[in-house]
Amino acid sequence: MAFDIEMIKKVYDNLDAKVNAARKVVNKPLTLTEKILYAHLWDGQASTAFERGKSYVDFAPDRVAMQDATAQMALLQFMQAGRPQVAVPSTVHCDHLIQAKEGASKDLATANTQNKEVYDFLASVSNKYGIGFWKPGAGIIHQVVLENYAFPGGMMIGTDSHTVNAGGLGMVAIGVGGADACDVMAGLPWELKFPKLIGVKVTGKLSGWTSAKDVILKVAGILTVKGGTGAIVEYFGEGANSLSCTGKGTICNMGAEIGATTSIFGYDVKMADYLRGTGRADVAELADKVAVHLTGDEEVYANPSAYFDQVIEINLSELEPHINGPFTPDLAWPLSKFAAAVKEAGWPAKLEVGLIGSCTNSSYEDISRAASIAQQAVDKNLVAKAEFTITPGSEQVRYTVDRDGYLDIFGKMGGVVLANACGPCIGQWARHGAEKQEKNSIITSFNRNFAKRADGNPNTHSFVASPEIVTAFAIAGDLTFNPVTDTLTNEKGEQVRLDEPQGIELPIKGFAVEDAGYQAPAEDGSKVQVLVSETSDRLQLLAPFAAWEGTDVTGLKLLIKAKGKCTTDHISMAGPWLKFRGHLDNISNNMLIGAINFFNEKADSVKNQLTGEYGAVPATQRAYKAAGIGSIVVGDENYGEGSSREHAAMEPRHLGVRAILVKSFARIHETNLKKQGMLALTFANPADYDKIQEDDTIDIIGLTSFAANSPLTVVLNHKDGSKDEIKVNHTYNDQQIEWFKAGGALNIIRASVK
Ligand code: SF4
Repeated sequence: MAFDIEMIKKVYDNLDAKVNAARKVVNKPLTLTEKILYAHLWDGQASTAFERGKSYVDFAPDRVAMQDATAQMALLQFMQAGRPQVAVPSTVHCDHLIQAKEGASKDLATANTQNKEVYDFLASVSNKYGIGFWKPGAGIIHQVVLENYAFPGGMMIGTDSHTVNAGGLGMVAIGVGGADACDVMAGLPWELKFPKLIGVKVTGKLSGWTSAKDVILKVAGILTVKGGTGAIVEYFGEGANSLSCTGKGTICNMGAEIGATTSIFGYDVKMADYLRGTGRADVAELADKVAVHLTGDEEVYANPSAYFDQVIEINLSELEPHINGPFTPDLAWPLSKFAAAVKEAGWPAKLEVGLIGSCTNSSYEDISRAASIAQQAVDKNLVAKAEFTITPGSEQVRYTVDRDGYLDIFGKMGGVVLANACGPCIGQWARHGAEKQEKNSIITSFNRNFAKRADGNPNTHSFVASPEIVTAFAIAGDLTFNPVTDTLTNEKGEQVRLDEPQGIELPIKGFAVEDAGYQAPAEDGSKVQVLVSETSDRLQLLAPFAAWEGTDVTGLKLLIKAKGKCTTDHISMAGPWLKFRGHLDNISNNMLIGAINFFNEKADSVKNQLTGEYGAVPATQRAYKAAGIGSIVVGDENYGEGSSREHAAMEPRHLGVRAILVKSFARIHETNLKKQGMLALTFANPADYDKIQEDDTIDIIGLTSFAANSPLTVVLNHKDGSKDEIKVNHTYNDQQIEWFKAGGALNIIRASVK
């Protein structure tokens, strides 16, 4: 079930009929996104045009991909669904749990020992249920998916925000929570609010230091971290067609940083080349035959503002390299303005580390372009002033770039090759000195740069750029260096300049690999034993959550009123906690420990209304739970942005929080809350956030007549005896209301299997 050419054939065989049916329904020329979405409607969907940003629609994705951290909970949930095999081709990728410390081979050996029980669980559960298993060291999920599974016109969901990377190969690929993955693997439809469409018209051609990464760094600056929310971003135009397939992947990958549901490019020669280059000439041949359906209609691209909700234009010929950050990926600086920004803001100009690779930028082209800069350092007697690390995206890329001499070049420059895994990108970086929490700067070719993400130090100013810019900066060791205009002093005291990077899109001798790290599942898994130890502190079988009690929910204590940014990292912190991903009770000890309490501006310090004492958030919540009292979490804008982890929804559910009330939600997190049977509510009037007081006891009224599009009422009972009554909105549809009533979607799935 892991790779299935028959499945791709079926998708393409039906494409003509489905796109033509959609044409009649929509009654105007179609964008690529619409073609793919309409071609993947769940059977029996109404044949009416869906309203963008409003209609909830059931889809039938073709594939599921899971990374090891999120797969644990997804598969623990899938086991509860009672099915013998996954319903669609699915894969698990062991990439997130490998700590980056001493280099690839040592780190991999350590991970294999430290995570043995998790890997054994994932390997055995994959083997049993027909899931392809990619071992630790095989690579980062999104690179492996791009190389092996993504196909133009397909639809995939994945338990990771950067699943969207596969849009580079023309796929509608969307990051979801483990609960959604569980549904699709169980053969159920997957629901999505029909997205708005943002068109990005790309003209011109890249040259010099500018790369595909700079397209998305620029777009992030325009749209900001919220600008893509609820939208699919479709890139088109002759400039788009000129970008390499992996470059397109980079752009789509970082679409997650603007909150986009996903991003996509239409099928073109570059994609066909990549499919052939990665051993999938058969897929390219099939795609060629239906190419007209794998891109938007001509009329759409000729007059995009008539068909997209928003249109942005990017001229590659004028685009400068960008550096985004610190602390947020949408603070976009053109290279020519960056040095002044560093000086003016007082960010540490001395660069400590440059890190290239990650799922965003670890293609053959990326590595070859960065290596062309590294080679110059060697040739021109420059010694890299900052540390430098390389994280290859897959074993196939690593093996090939090693064969072609690039790793050797990085080694000569003083670079350290890390394992083919997420490592430093996800807080799994055992960086020496990070515990001192010194103010310092790093630059990466990754995608996210929230505080503490890479090394746990809140004072690490993390910037994001292309691999070639990162490499140049690592050589200079100075953030105020501009490789286009400035010179560097070499070992001989000479002034030397770095020439523009040169790269190769696909290896001339082809990709090669000895052991890609793939393990196929058993044909018949019925006898396979899933390995979960009862005494494990990392894995715990799930018990069903309780159903709704059938009344309004009253007497809730305010657990925390979170101030400002509250990402899923704040709600369920990564780093060392990743270890407990498969153990709900243990990982719940990180619940909301990163959120800032509005009332005292501190993290992990809230008032326990039963004692009046301040304490840690999880401990306070456990005290409410022990006393049989529910609670509520209040938050600000875009609550739950960031990674797709459903733990951020399961932990509050497990510990007895009943509702999350915020100014606005990030999409995936809102859905995750609904799946777990939580109430995800938004202030009808965002200013009502100010009415929430620290000692409030809160009632949620209207649940006995809970209905789609009908607001609920929240009563704030203040300590002084006064009350405020406010309206709160929700986006639950009829089915999601059933999830709430049943105590979670899984309870409904199990009932339907029996
Ligand atoms: S963004 Fe970082 S942590 Fe996430 S998949 Fe990519 S490399 Fe891994």
